[in-house]
Amino acid sequence: MRCWLDSCPKVNRLAYLLLRYEMNVVLLGPPGSGKGTQAELMHERLGFVHYSTGDVFRDHIKRKTPVGYEVKEYVTSGRLVPDSVVIEVMNAFIAEHVGKPIVYDGFPRTIPQAEGFGRVLDGHGLKVDAVVLIDLADDEVIRRLTARRQCRKCKKIYNLTFRPSRKEGICDECGGELYQREDDKEETIRRRLDVYREQTEPLIKFYEDKFKLERIAGELGRDKVFEELKRILETGKE
Ligand code: AMP
Repeated sequence: MRCWLDSCPKVNRLAYLLLRYEMNVVLLGPPGSGKGTQAELMHERLGFVHYSTGDVFRDHIKRKTPVGYEVKEYVTSGRLVPDSVVIEVMNAFIAEHVGKPIVYDGFPRTIPQAEGFGRVLDGHGLKVDAVVLIDLADDEVIRRLTARRQCRKCKKIYNLTFRPSRKEGICDECGGELYQREDDKEETIRRRLDVYREQTEPLIKFYEDKFKLERIAGELGRDKVFEELKRILETGKE
């Protein structure tokens, strides 16, 4: 018998498959490699829940919550928030969204976080289904991040060079104000890159030893990277 899905465009078919699975996908890569943009596309087009620890922390800071006070200094200076805080916040998030496909953008960033993550997923009978590294050279990271702007309201990401908003300083989607993140200034970007090389890059080996880690060149640009991501997710599910 022919399934009606056989006649669907590939992306719809993939979205359908993902919606039926509690898929947990980790995006690894240096700051500015496009993890946030890809996670947003996965949310819009494939129905994933987008978990960005950075956005969660910026939101706490904006709302002046106790977590916000605790993490502010780390986030604005580009240093990593202590693992215990990150794991607590992630635990609450997963408990709230369990059962849905989730893409993790900017988490985990250290080996203890990855181990804590594995334990939390295990507790829900889940696992990491795919780990994708979006790689990018340091020069390109700096070029991209100094031109990055983000909407204060809906968090959509723009780039003054290759993805500007239609109206300068205004979000196309919600009319919110676009701003440059405090940690997207060059000096802080260099520190974030150092932190990435020292503390996050070891995760590549960690996940390579445990699963199959897939690599995509961030230089390919938004659309081609997304094509590659879809191909990886689809192969992983069939
Ligand atoms: P991002 O938006 O992912 O670039 O994160 C912005 C900042 O939030 C980072 O520079 C860190 O200070 C903090 N942060 C985000 N995710 C994590 C994480 N998994 N572990 C520790 N700190 C994090």
